[in-house]
Amino acid sequence: MTEAIIKSALSNVKYPGFSRDIVAFGLVKDIKIDGSDVEVTISIQTKDPKIPETVFKECQDALNQIDGIGTTRVNVDVKNPEAQAGGDQTAAGGKTSIPGVKQIIAVASGKGGVGKSTVSTNLAVALAKTGAKVGLCDCDLYGPSTAQMFGTKQQPLANERDEIIPLQAHGVKLMSMSFLLDDNSPVIVRGPLATRYTQQFLRQVEWGELDYLILDLPPGTGDIQLTIVQTVALSGVVIVTTPQEVALIDARKAVSMFAKVNVDILGVVENMAWFECDHGTRYPIFGDGGGVLEAERLKVPLLGQIPIDVATRECADNGTPIALLSETDSAVSAAFKKTAAKVVARVQR
Ligand code: ADP
Repeated sequence: MTEAIIKSALSNVKYPGFSRDIVAFGLVKDIKIDGSDVEVTISIQTKDPKIPETVFKECQDALNQIDGIGTTRVNVDVKNPEAQAGGDQTAAGGKTSIPGVKQIIAVASGKGGVGKSTVSTNLAVALAKTGAKVGLCDCDLYGPSTAQMFGTKQQPLANERDEIIPLQAHGVKLMSMSFLLDDNSPVIVRGPLATRYTQQFLRQVEWGELDYLILDLPPGTGDIQLTIVQTVALSGVVIVTTPQEVALIDARKAVSMFAKVNVDILGVVENMAWFECDHGTRYPIFGDGGGVLEAERLKVPLLGQIPIDVATRECADNGTPIALLSETDSAVSAAFKKTAAKVVARVQR
């Protein structure tokens, strides 16, 4: 009997509700082998009593399939996510806060291209404009874009503890995978490696004291999102969508994933809500009010509606987020200011 055989058997056990297995998820904390007898310990964070029950039973079944197995013992160590949220470093498998960081807010979308990075960057700038200490971490290993939206191309340096010193732009501390890549290198990391990179990426950054750390997640519900929700004590998640049905369908999937792992949905931002022409007529290019209805359906606040705006796109391309403008000069900047205030109110409830 070897650890590899046990792990291979346990990799058939999916975390309930997800396509990923408990080994890839890093939930197998201990394997003890004595001849043909095996004892495994699984660590899970959940408030749902059905999850440990299911995992326990499926682990027993998986182990009993192994040829020549003797007696098996499965321990499932269950932690309550709420009890973990306030603390610093917790036991293995538990979520941890990042030292010095008061609130960690994820920005997610079901689908790419809906403006998630635009919302993350402008939310960070709008929060920084209130005098708060703000960091932004682009966790999209496959398509990092916030560095460009902040107009920064520098390579960050490391401190004496080997932590990366984030860059600073427009009053926000910035960390992005793109700082560690050259422009054309594709990031070919999948599964467990993506998980490890992300964990390292979040922990080995010298964030210092922050009121808010915004995490720009990749779109969808893949490995990186799961890693983050399982390892970092999030204050909650902001869901970005356009009013279009295809975006809403995927947004619902993202909401369902976050809800399953007990992450608070702070609310919905409807981006590209309409286009207003010079004469003041509004055209609902991607549909009318889909994000508003979705927020109602989910019983979560509508955090803001951001119109399609040429200046917003130009500012993003030029590295000067639109939220830097005064609210009187830009309706979108005003909308982001309001959105930021609503997010603050939600996390400070
Ligand atoms: P995501 O992070 O969801 O993939 P991005 O934030 O990168 O999306 O936005 C996709 C593209 O749409 C970018 O070129 C961005 O500048 C543009 N964009 C996003 N929101 C708006 C908006 N409200 N008005 C105009 N252009 C926008």
